Amino acid sequence: MVADTMVKTRWVYAFGGGGAEGDASMKNLLGGKGANLAEMSSLGLPVPPGFTITTEVCTYYYAHGQEYPSDLRDQVRDALAKVESQVGKTFGDPANPLLVSVRSGARASMPGMMDTVLNLGLNDATVEGLAKLAGDRRFAFDSYRRFIQMYSNVVLNLDHHMFEEILDEHKERLDVHVDTGLTAEDWEAVVADYKQAVENERGEPFPQDPEAQLWGAISAVFASWMNDRAKFYRRMHDIPESWGTAVNVQSMVFGNMGETSATGVAFTRNPSTGENRLYGEFLINAQGEDVVAGIRTPQALTKAAREEMGEKNPSMEEALPEVFTQFKSVVEKLEKHYRDMQDIEFTVEKGRLYMLQTRNGKRTAKAALKVAVDLASEGLITKEEAVMRVEPASLDQLLHPTIDPASPRDVIANGLPASPGAATGKVVFTAEEAERLGAAGEAVILMREETSPEDIRGMDAARGIVTARGGMTSHAAVVARGMGRPCVSGAGELRIDQKSGEFHVRGRTFKAHDVITIDGSTGEVLTGAVKMIEPELSGDFATLMTWADSVRRLKVRANAETALDARTARQFGAEGIGLCRTEHMFFDPDRIAAVREMILADDEKGRRAALEKILPMQRQDFVELFGIMEGLPVTIRLLDPPLHEFLPHTEEDVASVAAATGLDPAKLLRRAKELHEVNPMLGHRGCRLGVAYPEIYEIQVRAIVEAALDVAASGKPAPIVEIMHPLVAKGEEMKFLRELTDKTVKAVFAERGREIEYKVGAMVELPRAAIRAGDLAEHAEFFSFGTNDLTQTTFGISRDDSGRFLNAYIEKGIFERDPFVSLDQEGVGDLIRIATERGRATRPDVKLGICGEHGGDPASIQFCEAVGLDYVSCSAYRVPIARLAAAQAAIGEREKDR
Ligand code: ADP
Ligand code: MG
Ligand code: MG
Repeated sequence: MVADTMVKTRWVYAFGGGGAEGDASMKNLLGGKGANLAEMSSLGLPVPPGFTITTEVCTYYYAHGQEYPSDLRDQVRDALAKVESQVGKTFGDPANPLLVSVRSGARASMPGMMDTVLNLGLNDATVEGLAKLAGDRRFAFDSYRRFIQMYSNVVLNLDHHMFEEILDEHKERLDVHVDTGLTAEDWEAVVADYKQAVENERGEPFPQDPEAQLWGAISAVFASWMNDRAKFYRRMHDIPESWGTAVNVQSMVFGNMGETSATGVAFTRNPSTGENRLYGEFLINAQGEDVVAGIRTPQALTKAAREEMGEKNPSMEEALPEVFTQFKSVVEKLEKHYRDMQDIEFTVEKGRLYMLQTRNGKRTAKAALKVAVDLASEGLITKEEAVMRVEPASLDQLLHPTIDPASPRDVIANGLPASPGAATGKVVFTAEEAERLGAAGEAVILMREETSPEDIRGMDAARGIVTARGGMTSHAAVVARGMGRPCVSGAGELRIDQKSGEFHVRGRTFKAHDVITIDGSTGEVLTGAVKMIEPELSGDFATLMTWADSVRRLKVRANAETALDARTARQFGAEGIGLCRTEHMFFDPDRIAAVREMILADDEKGRRAALEKILPMQRQDFVELFGIMEGLPVTIRLLDPPLHEFLPHTEEDVASVAAATGLDPAKLLRRAKELHEVNPMLGHRGCRLGVAYPEIYEIQVRAIVEAALDVAASGKPAPIVEIMHPLVAKGEEMKFLRELTDKTVKAVFAERGREIEYKVGAMVELPRAAIRAGDLAEHAEFFSFGTNDLTQTTFGISRDDSGRFLNAYIEKGIFERDPFVSLDQEGVGDLIRIATERGRATRPDVKLGICGEHGGDPASIQFCEAVGLDYVSCSAYRVPIARLAAAQAAIGEREKDR
């Protein structure tokens, strides 16, 4: 039997002219831009005809030494012929030329990719045809000069400054200040100079053959998939290299054909606040990137927005009322169709509207919350969908401080509120310096004329970004919002003098490294560090959290030891404390003396005497904590660090401690030396302290239980006390600790004649503990996975020393992510799974939780849901993130079962 395996692969998909061969579901194959252009065409919206070359061609190209599939050229030629017949023009025809744009488009939008080339197909002959067709020679040569500059920059890699200088020379010579002041003849002269400059640079003329231009641009798109910027962006956003990019070739429409032509960008809702109002900018008689390039100040779309901004130039609603009405209905249709806020690009050619792009708009966390809650309230999506719409990690933006309105502000400049939140740092003028200082742990504010994709690493390293130029949709604004960095854009009064390392504003001069504060919610730039305040968690935030809580299965607790932490945790919705470290309480200045006395004691009697002094203080800590937690569970870990951490080490420190406490300096020094360990992490610490000096744990347990009884006696709800033993490895160890704990608890109960609910458990942070969890569970009623230490002990990597080599591992792809940030699900995760199974086999109702850094990491939380833990515990500020992530994980698990 001979099967026909030579099924032809389709590399090219057409769109436009009222229909399309693809649709929005084909993002993987057509990229986001291509799939949505196809979808808009099918919806009957006015999309200039064109075609998409698939991401599979990109994959093929890199798998075959940068060769194209042999039948690609034929398919492109056929698709182009189809466009020609739809538009009624011919590519390369001097009398009636079809011009196209070449646009990249990956599955996820990627600022690192090749810039779009417009007006492709123009040459010395077709420009004349265009001039005749349009009846406008000036327009034709304006388009040609744009094309030469863009193509030279993007495809031929020539510096754009060269072209700007030429243009400036012409303007100076002609004594005109704006581009619109140049005539057809002026542009013709500029074009001649441009072409000459290209030839001087390259040693060959600017390519005149449209076919060569087209393939040059297509290849440049595929090549840009592997440029450094794109690679960096992919790494930052976890985008796999294997996805590849698509290329869109689309017939041109012209926003630069006079006063009834325009180009613009719009969001169906405000991407900063989420407010349900059309939002955006446009420019009359302009093309493509003019709006975001900051050359001319863009105009508002609506009359209301213009009035609010106090602008004089007419809005689109006023200048082009008919097109605006049509545009508004198209935009509403798109939002209903996609059931999400859309980010839209459009052009008006001589009064006719064309849609050039739509996608789900990037937004701030604040806007994401509002849009999700509003869309659910409007009935467009369900509450569960709303819960899935907000990126848990992005809530971080809302959980961070803003400027205290009551504190004095010295405003030095005002710009646009491009990305909310406030930040303080030293001013730097280059992305490189931001990156360098940021890596050294310094807080910096990156101040630039305008950012470009090359600045992306520096923007990531900065705490905040200020630009002198650009609007709300400028590169800086869009990228900063995506990164969650505060940003002020378009602070036009700033005069940045990079050479002298200064900036000037309103008659004042500041130097590089001066400290400033920016407020991305108001657009203000302030001198110095300004007082910040904590965030407010009501309104949409509270609503979405309620919806999340109603679908969540995992409980969320906080790691907290101070009253402040505990209060913050409850305010953020924590359902208990998952880890209360007791050693911090020992370091308290008025206790450390008694702690040291305990350590220096020669025998148990001496230790007990010192511990008796600590007991009432420790009890008081717990009374306060239990009071705040109002009957919720509180897991308290008994003393964990090695004792020498409490002793002074250098002779100087010893002398000052001796002087302050009256302890014998010689004895202090001797004891410190005796307790010295070669490897403290694996030394005399954790429950090994309790085994060697049971009286330490005994006193701690006594303090805990007495405190709980005191709280109960005062009429407040009694806490559910969970006493946790750290660093347990063996069943016998746990047995000893359990008996010690129970004996002490029973003794206190007997003394007080009253009991409370309590549990005794193990912190699982050693591989042996996980593997022998069945033995531990004989005696432990709960496990809490201490994944910080469990990661260290599983990998044999010290977290504090890993900085030196971990980056090399991540760069070489050996580690996908830092295992101390996101749980290593294969290795450490497997130990958790084993411990869960074996623990439950022995004790079916063993309570299971996680209390490492990972408890606040969304991907790790998803894992915790999948293995069926009972709760996660994380730092107080991450509690809302964990609540949302847990809800999404629960929904995700349910979908899996379906
Ligand atoms: P980006 O991904 O950077 O947004 P695009 O491919 O969307 O790049 O192109 C940028 C801009 O170029 C568009 O917003 C639009 O204004 C203009 N543009 C692209 N293709 C065309 C076209 N066929 N006709 C007119 N303008 C176009
Ligand atoms: Mg675009
Ligand atoms: Mg530990």
